[in-house]
Amino acid sequence: MKPSVQSILITESQIEKRVHELGKQISKDYDKSDLVLICVLKGAILFFADLIRTLAVPARYEFVQLASYHNDTKSSGVQMIQGLYQDLFRADVLIVEDIVDTGMTLDFLLNHIESFEPTSVKVCSLLDKPDRREVPVTIDYLGFKIPNSFVVGYGLDFAQHYRNLPYIGVLDGDSVALGS
Ligand code: 5GP
Repeated sequence: MKPSVQSILITESQIEKRVHELGKQISKDYDKSDLVLICVLKGAILFFADLIRTLAVPARYEFVQLASYHNDTKSSGVQMIQGLYQDLFRADVLIVEDIVDTGMTLDFLLNHIESFEPTSVKVCSLLDKPDRREVPVTIDYLGFKIPNSFVVGYGLDFAQHYRNLPYIGVLDGDSVALGS
């Protein structure tokens, strides 16, 4: 049985407001850059689609999909399912993530992207769960810092469900496995 959404943590209008603020800041910082935004599938898709429409600067974009493996509750490895097609040499890369949890996915992706020798690599994440961090990573543009609960909605899933919710909600029950 699917667990139900226990409470709304971040409303649709709070997300909308924050996405516009982030877009404004990114547009200012990347004026006159060769900006390439990288959407990390599947979770970041809604955030990405909303964010890029707020940008006032030209930007290319690209998708990657990663899978993390878990032993019990701990991520033990990351693998790339769908890689990059565009050359990132001398580009200004901005990774767009849904959530940074242990930091392992982002750490893996940052190392991969660095191998293309871009001019710069920065990170924009909608959510951050700092209490769960195992690998130190820098988030340059952050939507919201959240407590250590499993969240769904606005692209984030539980067993591929709930991604289409327009808000970020907390699921009933405390022991749900991490989605991808
Ligand atoms: P990491 O632990 O590598 O930082 O995060 C790996 C992935 O786990 C994230 O990209 C996200 O897909 C998933 N994840 C982490 N925390 C949550 C959460 O609270 N809810 C959902 N739906 N996925 C999460």
